Amino acid sequence: MNAAPDDTCDVALESWVESANVAGCDFPIQNLPFGRFRREDDDSWCIGVAIGDQVLDLRKAGVFDTHDMNRVIRLKREQRQAVRQAISEGLRKGSAQRGKFEAALLSQADLELGVPCTIRDYTDFYVGIHHATAIGKQFRPDSPLLPNYKWVPIGYHGRASTIVASGSSFHRPVGQTKAPDDASPAVNPSARLDLELELGIVISRPNVHGVPIPLDAAEEHVFGITLFNDWSARDIQGWEYQPLGPFLSKNFASTISPWMVTLEALEPFRKPWSRPEGDPRPLPYLDSQANSQRGAFDIGLEVWLQTARMEQAGHAGDCISRSNFAQAAYWTVAQLVAHHTVNGCSLSAGDLFGSGTLSGPRPEQAGSLLELTSGGKQPLQLSNGEKRTYLQDGDSIILKGFCERPGFRRIGFGECRGKVLPARA
Ligand code: MN
Repeated sequence: MNAAPDDTCDVALESWVESANVAGCDFPIQNLPFGRFRREDDDSWCIGVAIGDQVLDLRKAGVFDTHDMNRVIRLKREQRQAVRQAISEGLRKGSAQRGKFEAALLSQADLELGVPCTIRDYTDFYVGIHHATAIGKQFRPDSPLLPNYKWVPIGYHGRASTIVASGSSFHRPVGQTKAPDDASPAVNPSARLDLELELGIVISRPNVHGVPIPLDAAEEHVFGITLFNDWSARDIQGWEYQPLGPFLSKNFASTISPWMVTLEALEPFRKPWSRPEGDPRPLPYLDSQANSQRGAFDIGLEVWLQTARMEQAGHAGDCISRSNFAQAAYWTVAQLVAHHTVNGCSLSAGDLFGSGTLSGPRPEQAGSLLELTSGGKQPLQLSNGEKRTYLQDGDSIILKGFCERPGFRRIGFGECRGKVLPARA
């Protein structure tokens, strides 16, 4: 884990890209997140960093000779830091590189932003202890957390094939459901379609098959963090999940935000990681001084719901939940990497870890409708008079994330937006 933020995070830095200096902007010069884009008239993907409302085309700017993001994300940490330094210097006010970089700038509004890298394997964890507790309570009021929860970072292997770019729509999934009183299951469009507020962790350097990644080296293998919505069909999930866990209730679509915010940019927003009094200390392979001192990240999170009626009325939607990664997560990013490889499992550049639903400690901070509506029993009242238990056709969910700390420039994650279309006829 890094010692301290370098000068690329200095609050005093300003860019000659004026939109990056506007207060509240997600992409000031201190952020520089990586993503992929393409122009309307060209179907090939290019790689860039976001700066203000622009994108710097990294090949055109002479930073890389490739458009392959997966080659970039597997760079060693020192190489990555050197690249970040070069981009930061080129975008600073007064830079001698301005002419070259200016010719490589494109307006984000004119571009399609994609899935930020080629995603290899996808694992979804379950680090949100308040979520796990709230869900567990619906089934086991007396002992909501299963006995392994405080020892094992729980996860399952998902599918990368249906991870889609922010801005995509998807059809309501169809599947087997069975209400407790039904004699037999039926095949129907899901009636309990939900969102899950998560972060996506993008793996950078692979490990050798059979060789675990130690906790204190884990972040060498992490490139950055995105927003991630793990859409979930609760009625399909409730029928299919025993005994092997989620399957078709989760893999019809998951939406990822376009920008990978690097660990370098997140450096000022680290926090100590600790456990509540009385909880077990992690086993040695999941425990270290560095992890305890600075393993957590303070990332504010929001869930917005925009119904079809709101969209037609030009209404941006309602914020239905606010949470925070450091408050919600029982395990750190580094612990997930160490755990995933403790058995020798090999990770690849471009693997994605979902964090699990990041519900805060209070009920209104929940990261799913399952929690916010008490299992569909208490509808949310929306500002335009509509109500929601689960998602309806035409609803959009927008996730947002940001880091704020006195003495540092606020950085944002952009948005992770997806829309529900009716089930296919
Ligand atoms: Mn999930």
